[in-house]
Amino acid sequence: MIPSQNVRGFAYVGAVRELGAAVELGAFRAVPLAGWPDLRALVRAQAPLLSAPRAGGPELCEICHGPAGHGSPRCFPCDLHLQCAQGSLADVVVPVAFAVKGGSHARHLWQYKSARPPVGTRDAAATMLRALLLVFLRDHGACLWRTARIAGPTHLAVVPTARGRPGVHPLRELVEDYLTVPWAELSPRPGGEQVRDLDPDRFSAGPLPGARVLMIDDTWTTGSSAQSAAMALRRAGAGSVVTVVLGRHIRRAEAATAGLGPGAMPFRPRSCAVHVAAR
Ligand SMILES: [Zn+2]
Ligand SMILES: [Zn+2]
Repeated sequence: MIPSQNVRGFAYVGAVRELGAAVELGAFRAVPLAGWPDLRALVRAQAPLLSAPRAGGPELCEICHGPAGHGSPRCFPCDLHLQCAQGSLADVVVPVAFAVKGGSHARHLWQYKSARPPVGTRDAAATMLRALLLVFLRDHGACLWRTARIAGPTHLAVVPTARGRPGVHPLRELVEDYLTVPWAELSPRPGGEQVRDLDPDRFSAGPLPGARVLMIDDTWTTGSSAQSAAMALRRAGAGSVVTVVLGRHIRRAEAATAGLGPGAMPFRPRSCAVHVAAR
């Protein structure tokens, strides 16, 4: 059965369960979190520094919502992936925000999983990203499911890290205490670690007959990794794959010339790249 909740008149069918003060925070136990108002405050705090694709926005790639090639509805990598593997890729890809190189969001995206910065820096980045992802799923999950024409996810998955580091993926660690849907396990295949192109054999997953998978990833650069993971999920039997990425990587010059910075295309918590207004 798909977990559901009704929050302030908005029927939400999907993954995020209500937070409570008593929730164990695992590795982030020191971070005080009470519930949605706190998470929303964290999203509002970072919003002025963020930019994000919006529905009906100008000339973005129809797949990853990054800058599209001139005269093309898609960016070069997405176009290539489509030519190679149409029908095996994610049904919907939605970035929560753009990760402009050198910007605060891009910095959070490496800090939260880096072993190097002080623990305080890492935890602060993790807190920001967790708030952004949970609030996004809660507010825009319905937009994603409608776009993919599914009732809601039956499974969650995370794109394995490139080097296949042992242990729980830092992104999963960030949110798994708050999500009720079971996780589909994806693992890198031996020898596939160095491959940078789209590769159906890069990852493998256990059987997932008819599953509707919400796959989360931190950064989308070419999308090869996330789309290879989507192919592995489909090969395992998944009927649909919806991919949500925290940051669609954008080069600085690209953000300026394509008008994708916070000034030209601000992040708006009430909207998303595939937004459907709630009735
Ligand atoms: Zn693209
Ligand atoms: Zn939306």
